[in-house]
Amino acid sequence: MKFETKIKAAAAAIILVMSTVAILPMIVNRQVTMVMDELDSAANVERLQLTLLEMLLNAETAQRGFVITGSERFLEPYYYAVNTIPSTQAALRKEMTSGVEIARAEAIEQATAAKLRTVTETINLRRDQGFTAASAFITGGTGKAQMDVLRKLIGNELSVSAQRRNEITARLRATSNSAANASLVATLTNILFLGAMLIAGQRVLRQRNAAEHKAQAAAEQAEVTAGRISTQNDLLFRSAELMHSLELAESVDESAGIIASYLPRLLPRLSGSLYLYNNSRDLLERKAGWGVFDGEPETIEALDCWALRRGSPHLYVGGDGLVCRHATGTSLDRLCLPLVTQGDVIGCITVTGDELAKAEENQRAWIGQVAEQLGLALSNVKLRVSLRQQSIIDPLTQLYNRRYLDEVLKRELARASRSGVPLSVLVLDLDHFKRINDTYGHEGGDAILRKVAAALRENIRSGDVACRMGGEEMVVLLPECDTENALKRADALRLVIAAGDVLHNGQRIGATASIGVASYPAHGHNTQTLVHAADLALYEAKHEGRNCVRVARQAVSPDASIDRHHAS
Ligand code: GH3
Ligand code: MG
Ligand code: MG
Repeated sequence: MKFETKIKAAAAAIILVMSTVAILPMIVNRQVTMVMDELDSAANVERLQLTLLEMLLNAETAQRGFVITGSERFLEPYYYAVNTIPSTQAALRKEMTSGVEIARAEAIEQATAAKLRTVTETINLRRDQGFTAASAFITGGTGKAQMDVLRKLIGNELSVSAQRRNEITARLRATSNSAANASLVATLTNILFLGAMLIAGQRVLRQRNAAEHKAQAAAEQAEVTAGRISTQNDLLFRSAELMHSLELAESVDESAGIIASYLPRLLPRLSGSLYLYNNSRDLLERKAGWGVFDGEPETIEALDCWALRRGSPHLYVGGDGLVCRHATGTSLDRLCLPLVTQGDVIGCITVTGDELAKAEENQRAWIGQVAEQLGLALSNVKLRVSLRQQSIIDPLTQLYNRRYLDEVLKRELARASRSGVPLSVLVLDLDHFKRINDTYGHEGGDAILRKVAAALRENIRSGDVACRMGGEEMVVLLPECDTENALKRADALRLVIAAGDVLHNGQRIGATASIGVASYPAHGHNTQTLVHAADLALYEAKHEGRNCVRVARQAVSPDASIDRHHAS
């Protein structure tokens, strides 16, 4: 049976028992009333019978007094009895209504009538015949005998009545006992049912409380899980964002800046530093830091860090474990993670903070994942930078190549046009280079090319760009430089080149250069017109004896372009 059904059944039983208990007093009351009525009736019968006996005795006494004295005055109780006995008998008849009672009442009536007749006869004898006759009649004993019969009849009645009273009282007691017993049983039953319901109710409450606790715990757990998932999603989103940004980074330094700006969000409440090997791979340089990184050294050696020595993460928490040498002097909890790509260690990340001690295994694993991804991303950046370098650097002279010049010239022209600041271009060609080649061999020519390239690199500003266009022709881009200054700078370069020489196969080789100068906006507005103007100026310098500098005369259109080599 289901629990709810049981509870309903128990409640119904309680209602039934209580209804019965409620009816019980009414039943008992009715019984008591009936018994009391019966007792009243019995008492009334007794009283009437005693009254009857008393009246007859009084009548007999009156008759004796009259017989002895002859005085009528004594007869008053007799007359009272004669007058009252009929009504008393009528009242008695009303009370004695059952078959046996009616017969007994008739017997008393007859005996009473007989006695009363004898008394009347005695009184009449005294009046008519005098004392002696009456006295003789009395002595005859009829009256006494009749009185004895009556006494016996009424005595019997009284004992029957007493017995009946006893019976009624016993019945009353029995009724009251059964009522008390029924009430006790009902009360006990109710207590039983109520107790059972109480226990069941408590069980239900306990179960409900337990279920509520369980539900609450489940809800709290779900909330925690949802929070964790949301945080994880957020972290994953940011980590993806970081990796995407690193894909676009153009240099390792730029990557380090990007990493420094993302790591506070990826590793909240933790501080740290990013170390990368320098080019000579003898030291690791701190490229980025986040959070509180006071006291972190700017450079560390590979042997200073246990993570770098072992090639796996190294944790130092709660003063337990080996302290890395780069961390001596601080007692911070620390996690060092090597940045490894394809078996090659490119650097390390060192993370500090109290959170490390509290961090669960998965949180530390997350830090490890971040380090792993950073290692890969940084190695990609390095690879990309190196590929790009290869694609824009001329291998012989280590100057930028023509492709890079096109790119940078476009960018610088756009910048110059935006800012209204001039820009100049020097086109430089070594003089009689064919002859140098012919005289000293190709290697000799190459040595000269490298020497001139070095001279250019060493004598231009950091914002200037020197490129090898091909053969022995080079271009120097001078941002924020007008024609006048460009001319001066070109001449200075020309002098440096002319002054320098190289030792090749025991021979000193020197070379000179002719330079054409053109400036934006004076001589051209785009890459082609500007370089073409400088080309024309170079052609002029060649024409005018070489080892000299010429400035473009005026703006020219690309259509006016002359193939310098054809012309020469
Ligand atoms: P000009 O003064 O008129 O410029 O005369 P030039 O001899 O320098 O000019 P030309 O264009 O006739 O000759 C250029 C020579 O440069 C031809 C070629 O053999 C040489 N050359 C081109 N590239 C290289 C290179 O990479 N290495 C060497 N050693 N020589 C090169
Ligand atoms: Mg030349
Ligand atoms: Mg040439």
